[in-house]
Amino acid sequence: MTRLNSVLLNPRIGVGADLAAWRKAGGGEGLARALERPEDIIPTLRAADLRGMGGAGFPTWRKWTATADAPGDEKYVVCNGNEDEPGTFKDCYLLHRTPHQVIEGALIAAAAVRAATVVFYINPHQTDGIEAMRRAVAQWAGDSQIAALERLIGQPMRLTVTPSSGRYIGGEESAVVRWLNGSFPFPRRKPPFPFEQGVNDKPTLINNTETLSNISHILKNGADWYRDLGIGGASGTKLFSLSGDVLEPGLYELPMGTSLQELIFTHGGGMLGGRAFKAVFTGGPSNTLLTARDLDVALDFDSVRARQSRLGTGAMIVISEGTSVVRKVAEYVEFFANGSCGQCPPCKCGTFQMSRLLDRIATGRGTEADRRALRHLCQILPGSGRCALIDGAVTVVQSSLQTFPEEYAAPASR
Ligand code: SF4
Repeated sequence: MTRLNSVLLNPRIGVGADLAAWRKAGGGEGLARALERPEDIIPTLRAADLRGMGGAGFPTWRKWTATADAPGDEKYVVCNGNEDEPGTFKDCYLLHRTPHQVIEGALIAAAAVRAATVVFYINPHQTDGIEAMRRAVAQWAGDSQIAALERLIGQPMRLTVTPSSGRYIGGEESAVVRWLNGSFPFPRRKPPFPFEQGVNDKPTLINNTETLSNISHILKNGADWYRDLGIGGASGTKLFSLSGDVLEPGLYELPMGTSLQELIFTHGGGMLGGRAFKAVFTGGPSNTLLTARDLDVALDFDSVRARQSRLGTGAMIVISEGTSVVRKVAEYVEFFANGSCGQCPPCKCGTFQMSRLLDRIATGRGTEADRRALRHLCQILPGSGRCALIDGAVTVVQSSLQTFPEEYAAPASR
């Protein structure tokens, strides 16, 4: 079930790949303002305090400034639509239902950093999204706003839709660059960052689909309007992929800073079967679990970080009393083990070993030696990989060990 609300999920703009309908709903005005005063684009995003919605929450204007300031005339903008982790299903909606919202944001990014090539990098499993984006991109060919953008940049614009590898690690920025350069999507250590050495070794701006979807609205309505959408000092709205043991799972757009309690019990309809709330895997399955004492937390990047967790992508996988935390963690660590690219032996072997131990413990076959081995892996694995996958896998195991130690001694049946 999808909840339509507010800005990005406004039903008026869920018009699919029809450019005329998008414009009729107010689309195109943000790009028009950007083309009139391109020097105002980045300051407006800075004043709006737009953050990266792909997981890191990094200030968007900083990335844009770094790419705009990078030397050279050949630059790239990449819309990262690789979304693949358990419990996250926001980008697939945006790509499929609001492709022009995504495209307009990417074109404004191109105007800001002076990039003539825009790549929509999409998980190949999102077949509806790829098809919608291809149809939508075709409608911009020969458009007057594209012509104005070409005059600004001084080069012909090129918009392409490129399927990613479909691997979880393919969404990591350095892996995005490698794939687009024709190699296997192996992440690598940074620096260099994509704004320094990206596609074809040229400065490249990579933004998540949800981040880009916000851009046209901010340019059209202004930074103050965007800031006022948030609650308690947070800016804008956030898409929450709510799943698990709730009555009404779905995609919700709510003010940034909405409480976890309100998301689950007001919008999500409360707990399935009247069971008690137990915990939530927040921002996908690679962060510290939030529990009943965190229900009051404001869902914004800084407030969730203050609880030693992360808002991440906005995925919220809720579990109720009676659901085995160990079994859930075992599922997610198996996902990470399968997703490890194998470049870093501690990651490949460590995630596999943790997965094997968790499976034994979750199915009641675990021994004290297994629990000791799991704790030992949590101590030695962090920081041993080129990307964050291994650290994410350890974080969720460690968090569950600390918060629900009794379940490791005697796992629940579900
Ligand atoms: Fe690959 Fe894991 Fe190393 Fe990341 S940490 S690069 S997923 S092996």
